[in-house]
Amino acid sequence: MTTPTTFAELGLPAQLLTNLTKIGYEAPSAIQAASIPLLLEGNDLLGTAQTGTGKTAAFALPTLAQVDPNSTETQVLVLAPTRELAIQVAEAFQTYSEGMRGFHVLPIYGGQPMGGQLRGLRRGCQVVVGTPGRVMDHLRRGTLKLDALKAVVLDEADEMLRMGFIDDVTWILEHAPEQRQVALFSATMPKPIRRLAEQYLNNPKEIAIEAQSSVVDKIEQAFWMVQGTNKLDALTRILEVEEFDGLIMFVRTKNATIEMAQKLEARGYQARAINGDMTQKLREQTIGELKEGHLDILVATDVAARGIDVPRITHVINYDIPIDPEAYVHRIGRTGRAGRTGKAILFVAPRERRLLRAIENVTKGRIPQMEIPTRDEVSAKRVQDFKQQIAEALQHPKLEFFTKMVSEYVEETETELLELAGALACMGQKDKLLLTDEKPERAPRSFAGDSDWHKEQRQPRQPRVHDDSGMGFYRISVGYQHQVRPGDIVGALVNEADIEKSSIGRIQLFDDFSVVQMPVGMPDNLLSHLKQIKIRGQAIAVEPIDERDVPEQKRKPKGDRPFKPRGDKPRSDKPRGERSYGDKPRSDRPRSDRPKPGPGANAKKGSKRRSNADAAGGQSAPRRRTYD
Ligand code: ADP
Ligand code: MG
Repeated sequence: MTTPTTFAELGLPAQLLTNLTKIGYEAPSAIQAASIPLLLEGNDLLGTAQTGTGKTAAFALPTLAQVDPNSTETQVLVLAPTRELAIQVAEAFQTYSEGMRGFHVLPIYGGQPMGGQLRGLRRGCQVVVGTPGRVMDHLRRGTLKLDALKAVVLDEADEMLRMGFIDDVTWILEHAPEQRQVALFSATMPKPIRRLAEQYLNNPKEIAIEAQSSVVDKIEQAFWMVQGTNKLDALTRILEVEEFDGLIMFVRTKNATIEMAQKLEARGYQARAINGDMTQKLREQTIGELKEGHLDILVATDVAARGIDVPRITHVINYDIPIDPEAYVHRIGRTGRAGRTGKAILFVAPRERRLLRAIENVTKGRIPQMEIPTRDEVSAKRVQDFKQQIAEALQHPKLEFFTKMVSEYVEETETELLELAGALACMGQKDKLLLTDEKPERAPRSFAGDSDWHKEQRQPRQPRVHDDSGMGFYRISVGYQHQVRPGDIVGALVNEADIEKSSIGRIQLFDDFSVVQMPVGMPDNLLSHLKQIKIRGQAIAVEPIDERDVPEQKRKPKGDRPFKPRGDKPRSDKPRGERSYGDKPRSDRPRSDRPKPGPGANAKKGSKRRSNADAAGGQSAPRRRTYD
């Protein structure tokens, strides 16, 4: 995200340059290098760049350069779509302005008591960062005055539009002095925003930073087609194998955030829900906890997570695919912050393929398909983590004490050293097995595999009587053409032919026929009985077929390696397609990559999972929260 230019070359004052060095920004990002000189010259500006490209500094630095700290009048007004963003932007101004005597920045937003805001406004602050509604309030009351305003910044303009603030923004612009600079920043440039820019910006300079050079490229993306395993099981395996630091997971509803966070806590993760129902204070607190490493996983809705900037987020999991493809870009922009890389995993149910294509259109690239880790890989990861723990224990300051004690034990009992080590490992692991249980993988659950997790609670898991190898393929003479859905087929087989639901495997629909997996060797009389069934009014014929006769492109890709991009279609936009996802040994990664766990974080490296004992008692016990 950096360009060869330096901040000094952009014409920023010395005080700001010193601060940037202190903060550790080495070079301006593309949007910063382009915007800062233009804004310093007093131009209006229309800037488009993906999230995570450093837009805040792109407007904060040049506007700060114009602020006169000796006057307490409001000179810069930033409008932001959410409280979180207003706070974040205000914090950024605070950081960049270190040492500017007499300088004050104030965030103002709805849901916060007026008292503090009024005091802040009365005291005077050169920069006000606010949500449109609250800014309007203060302008109407006369508690915020714009007479001395030099610049207005519209941050995340597309989001303000989406949240219905466009009229408020217009109203505010109408009430700002004629002679002011306007900078509009947005991740995308929808028509209404362009119109607003045409009306209120004065000969704006336009900067568009291509998405390719920004966040999307720094994020390894992959999708998993929900199949065979339910989403929660798949998630659990991914969490075990992926080496993540902070992780944010997106679900569709507020209830799902809470339920999912509880499920994860029950599985030993430090997880918490964040949604629009929570009080502002609780949301801020929760994000703070993630920042400091007291929490590792946030389960969020789109609205609640908008704009969260926590550098330690290494992974974004789209547990529920977003309906709005733009939201996907915003979601994955929560990782890959501050020049780091990130990973984004997307769960796609077969009937959500359309949404996947829409996302690929927006991100302008194919997202590679991945497979979930196999049980063996999960076991291997546990073993690897365990060995890592041994290596770490060997460096522990108390090692000497324990070694002495153990050597006494060996003398007294003449135990073999290797056996003794095994016994100690046993003690250390207690009942947590390193190897996953040997249950066969469940047979594909056909289209039911995308069961959201409510469904899963309703239907206790049924043990499968067979595994993949006992399944054969049967051709049924109805398909898309007949407006048949997989549910119709399951219904007919279960209700009419007395076939157990648990023995129906994957169902694939084709144009004028379908292929159903059922146990091999279905007796003839059963097959002929099936012929009397109608599906959607259509009499059907059922016949066993050879696996090789199942049309190729619809078949689940073979090979068990996780995150392997599907190689079935050559891609022209190669880099992303070629990337093989996650199959490099983890130990290759330099350790310094990984930020240290903060206080309260798991001391163990590798697995993020806290032991179940921890999860059951004390601070991380599953709990139901109520939000007001
Ligand atoms: P955007 O508004 O485009 O989504 P932000 O302004 O929130 O992006 O910046 C994303 C992250 O990048 C922040 O953590 C910010 O501190 C960091 N950042 C911004 N500019 C630079 C820079 N020049 N060098 C390093 N990090 C930067
Ligand atoms: Mg921003």
